[in-house]
Amino acid sequence: MMALKKTLFAALSLVMMAGLPEYARSAEPAQTTAVQAPAAQEYSLQWNSLHMGTLIKARVFGDSPEAVKRYARIVEDEVTRFDDMMSVHKQTALNEVNRLSGQAVPVTPEIAEMTLRALQLARASEGAFEPTIGTVVNLWKIGFGGDKVPSQTQIDKAVSLVDYTKVCVTQDDSGQWFIRIAPGQSLDMGAIAKGYIGQKMAEALVAAGMKHGLLDLGGNVVLIGYKTDNKNWKIGIQRPDKERGAYFAVVGAHDASVITSGAYERYFEKDGKRYAHILSPVTGRPVTTDISSVTIVSTHGADADAWCTAIFAMGWDRARAFMKTHPELRIFMLDASMKKALVSASLAPDVIVTDPTVSLATVSGVKSPRH
Ligand code: AMP
Ligand code: MG
Repeated sequence: MMALKKTLFAALSLVMMAGLPEYARSAEPAQTTAVQAPAAQEYSLQWNSLHMGTLIKARVFGDSPEAVKRYARIVEDEVTRFDDMMSVHKQTALNEVNRLSGQAVPVTPEIAEMTLRALQLARASEGAFEPTIGTVVNLWKIGFGGDKVPSQTQIDKAVSLVDYTKVCVTQDDSGQWFIRIAPGQSLDMGAIAKGYIGQKMAEALVAAGMKHGLLDLGGNVVLIGYKTDNKNWKIGIQRPDKERGAYFAVVGAHDASVITSGAYERYFEKDGKRYAHILSPVTGRPVTTDISSVTIVSTHGADADAWCTAIFAMGWDRARAFMKTHPELRIFMLDASMKKALVSASLAPDVIVTDPTVSLATVSGVKSPRH
C-alpha cells in the first residue's frame, strides 16, 4: 500500500514539476490522476486540457514514471504545435492561405499533407466532403454565434466560390510547401483536422515507445495499442438526443481512430427548424439528412473523419448503398428516428448496441429487392 502511494505521488509530482501549463487553461476542472495499473510495473496518467476549442482527454501508459511524463509532454507539445499551425482562431499558416487567397502561401509539411489528403477525399466522395466549403461555413457560422438564415443572394455568392479542384498544393526545390486557393475561396478543414491531428499525435507517441494509450479530441478518439492484455478498448457512442455521456452502443477497437459525426454536435434552431453544422456544397444550406450519427473505425484518422462527414451528408439510403460498395470502410450509423442502426460486416463483431430500443442490422444482411 505504501509502495503504491509512493508511486502515485512520484508520478503525480513528476508531471506537476514538468509544469504543463495547459492544465490550468482547461475549461473543466483539471483532472490529473496517476495510478499504478494492475499489470506489473505499469504506470498511467490521465488528464484533460483545452486546445483548439476542444476538450482533450488523454490517457497514457508507460513502464516508468519518467516514460509516462515523457508521453504526457509529447501530447501537450504536439497538440499545441498543431493548434498554433491550424487553429481557425489564431493567425496560423492555414488561415494565411485564406487571407491571401489567390497567392501561393508557404505552409508546413503537415498542412500540405492534410490538404492533399482532403483533396483526394473530396474526389472520392464526389464532393460531399468539400474542403473549400469555408465561404458557406463562414456565412452560416453555425456553432459560432450564427443564428440567422442568410439570404439566397449571399448563399449563391458563397457557393459560387466552392470548388476543391481550384486548390493547388506545390513544393519548391528547397522542399518548402505552398498552397494557393482561388481568389475569395476559403479552406475549411473542420471535418478532417481532428482526425488528422489525433493520428499524428498517436504516431509521435508510438515513435517515442508508447505501447498503449488513448486520446480523445472532443469525441474523435485515437486508440494506441490495446487497452490491456490484447483486450480492445471500448468506446461508448453518444446517443444523439440525450445528454453528453449517454451511450446507445459500444464499439471495441485497438490501434485505430474511432470518429463520429452527429447532428447533435453544433446547430441552431429558428422557427422550429434545426440547422446542423454540416453543409451541402451544392445548395449552400445545412444538409437535411435522415442519419443522426455516423461512426467510422479506421487506422487512418483523417480518412475516418472526412468520411464520417461525407456519409452523414449522404442520407440513409445513399449511405447504405455506399457501405455495400465500400466494405473496406468500417461504418456504424444510426437513423434519425434512433430506432435503426446499420453496421458494416467488417465492424459487426466489435459493435454492441446497449440501447434496447435500437435494432441493429449488418449491410451484408440487407437483401437487394431483386432477391
Ligand atoms: P465534422 O464534425 O467532422 O463532421 O465536421 C464538421 C465541420 O466541417 C463543420 O463545422 C464545418 O467546419 C465543416 N464542414 C461543414 N460541411 C462540410 C462539408 N460538406 N465538407 C467538408 N467540411 C464541411
Ligand atoms: Mg469529420
